[in-house]
Amino acid sequence: NKFAPDLECAICFCQFNNVFNTPKVLQCKHTFCLECLARMNVKSTQPDTIQCPLCRAYTPLPDLGLPKLANDSTVLSYLPAAMQHVYSIRFNRNKGKLQVKRVPSSAPALTQTVSQTLDVGNPAGLEGQRGRDGGRERSLLMTVLRMPLCKAFIMSMVAIVTVILTIVIIITNRK
Ligand SMILES: [Zn+2]
Ligand SMILES: [Zn+2]
Repeated sequence: NKFAPDLECAICFCQFNNVFNTPKVLQCKHTFCLECLARMNVKSTQPDTIQCPLCRAYTPLPDLGLPKLANDSTVLSYLPAAMQHVYSIRFNRNKGKLQVKRVPSSAPALTQTVSQTLDVGNPAGLEGQRGRDGGRERSLLMTVLRMPLCKAFIMSMVAIVTVILTIVIIITNRK
């Protein structure tokens, strides 16, 4: 009797697929989805190895990166025919992103509905935080600078009229 494998990731309970939730098998033969392994790796203090959350065994990462871990071919064979070709994914650990690198040539219409990047969290450290705040300040300044002149003129006129009206109301109320 052949047992059907678990078609859900044991960490996130999502259905395995051929994009970000590709079933990846560790050396201990436990299988998890690529997204969960990427999330664990981003938070890990040992970026070169993955510790299995079930049995704690270590699996060294391939030189070419996390997405090059072996696919679980048994799980894949139970997925729908449209998911038999696995997407080529790039893992950018510093940015905490999974990105679709190449769509398989046989990809069906599904391609349009698949997002091209996935956030898997930020690596530990404050650099990311600081960078983000700086970015927000810069973008606010850019918005003001890019504002068309007529729009800025109208806005300042509105402000001036408001101030004058307020003064008039205060004066008339005093009398
Ligand atoms: Zn998962
Ligand atoms: Zn394991």
